Amino acid sequence: MTAAPTSATRLIALLGDPVAHSLSPVFQNAAFRAAQVDGVYLALRCAPGELPGLLSGLALAGGGGNVTLPHKELAARTVARRTGAVEATGACNTFWREGGEVWGDNTDVAGFSAAVEALLGAPPAGARVLLLGAGGAARAALASLGAAGAREVVVSNRSPGRAAALVERFASSRARLSVAPSPAPPAGEPFDLVVNSTSLGLRASDPLPLPLDGSPPFRAALDLVYSPGETAWVRELRARGIPAADGAEMLLRQGAAAFERWWGREAPLEAMRTALAAARRG
Ligand code: NAP
Repeated sequence: MTAAPTSATRLIALLGDPVAHSLSPVFQNAAFRAAQVDGVYLALRCAPGELPGLLSGLALAGGGGNVTLPHKELAARTVARRTGAVEATGACNTFWREGGEVWGDNTDVAGFSAAVEALLGAPPAGARVLLLGAGGAARAALASLGAAGAREVVVSNRSPGRAAALVERFASSRARLSVAPSPAPPAGEPFDLVVNSTSLGLRASDPLPLPLDGSPPFRAALDLVYSPGETAWVRELRARGIPAADGAEMLLRQGAAAFERWWGREAPLEAMRTALAAARRG
């Protein structure tokens, strides 16, 4: 927004617990200023019991918002209308009002697609992918990879049962899906892409999501984790000459897609990128 809030200002809020660490208010408010839209973005910590009322109230009052951990699945059940990305993943991270109804999208799917394309220089059509992790972010990754025409995705997770459930959920995917028998990369043909969708890397003391011995069998790596600096895994991969990126681009692109849902116009991506980079340095 460009001036002080008025009675016409739209309130866009991030709902989750915790939310204090989130960088979304920084780059969304920068986007609102750059696009000169009359809105303000706040982060509101809330409990599961408070989520449905807050989400619906904000949207029906003309605002909207984002949803983060641990409420994305509850948000998917709360909204009246779901995009295909919400149906595919069972998770909602963006909500707004349209035609008098509360809509939900999962822009993590579009954010993941854009981050992969930025890394590879093209969509992963025909790619063989190793996906580490089987939580909410992995669902967004599988929805995106299937839609982009990835040839094969091998899922590796600490809890193999959860990986099997994920593969079953996406059984109709265009990609051939399987569960890795162990956390080590399966031997054989190299992977075009490895994705870390585990939460390993959030803390500096975390082990790498996949040990890197010798010459790793993948051509590029995307870490969905973002931390103030780049993650140790991304640094180690780059040192071995493997193109690698952390989760900042996905964060930015899911935010840009959310902006477009709330405001019905293109997001000012460069203003958002500059604000996010400054916040990460700061
Ligand atoms: P989640 O649903 O809680 O899933 C966590 C995943 O990490 C599970 O596969 C879990 O394995 C695995 N994991 C946790 N601790 C582990 C450990 N000590 N060793 C091995 N595996 C471990 O979380 P999520 O929503 O998928 O988020 C995962 C990460 O992606 C988070 O760091 C989040 O910040 C990031 N993310 C980034 C973006 C972005 O825009 N860049 C968007 C969404 C999420 P088990 O199944 O065995 O528990």
